[in-house]
Amino acid sequence: MSPSSLVVAIDGPSGSGKSTVARRVAQALALRYLDTGAMYRALTWWLLEQGADLRDHRRVAALATQLPLTIGMDPHHPTVHVGAVDVGTVIRESRISSVVSMVATNLGVRSELVRRQREIVEEGGVVVEGRDITTVVAPDAPVRVLLTASENTRLARRAHDVHGDAHPEAVAATRDQVVRRDADDATVARFLHPADGVDVVDSSHLSVDETVAAVLDLVRRRAGVTPR
Ligand code: C5P
Repeated sequence: MSPSSLVVAIDGPSGSGKSTVARRVAQALALRYLDTGAMYRALTWWLLEQGADLRDHRRVAALATQLPLTIGMDPHHPTVHVGAVDVGTVIRESRISSVVSMVATNLGVRSELVRRQREIVEEGGVVVEGRDITTVVAPDAPVRVLLTASENTRLARRAHDVHGDAHPEAVAATRDQVVRRDADDATVARFLHPADGVDVVDSSHLSVDETVAAVLDLVRRRAGVTPR
């Protein structure tokens, strides 16, 4: 396979480090980087902007088909725009994280966003990360990885991201966004256990550099592609 048409699929729960790792892998291999979680977050932001009732499944699914989303896939500078608005930062706020699962468990929403994601996968040359990439979006990708980490590790990492430290209070405040969100998300996507043929990388005791190296090693073994 030509290295530039390679597809690398990475799934994992919240706090597994998959965004950082997927981005770094894309940089190393000169591939594009697609953060599918950002798509669900951007849709959630747009729905809230319009005052939409997130529990109205039919309306939310209908609106999803109209989402004016542009994803910039340069791994050195990924961007997310809804219409002309740069939402790259606001979609990471807690007010989005706490309700995004309500949108992502809407099956009409999933079929629309998966359709958009598959179009990108079909073009090739991309590292895609999310919850259902190895199983639904790109089940035929030559490299499919489930990135895991222990619950304690994931809580501490997310507390660091959100609060800047991992004190007990920060960890407690983060629990809802990690444990409850994963439980909700796991009702519609299977990312807590690997599907057949999916390689597991447990990053609990690995640094970011070591985790990136482990994924690049899988890329070499599964697809014969190495960084330039
Ligand atoms: O990865 P991130 O935390 O940004 O994902 C935000 C949310 O988007 C997840 O909690 C989940 O509800 C949803 N998601 C999904 N399927 C994906 C990626 C993300 O349902 N492939």
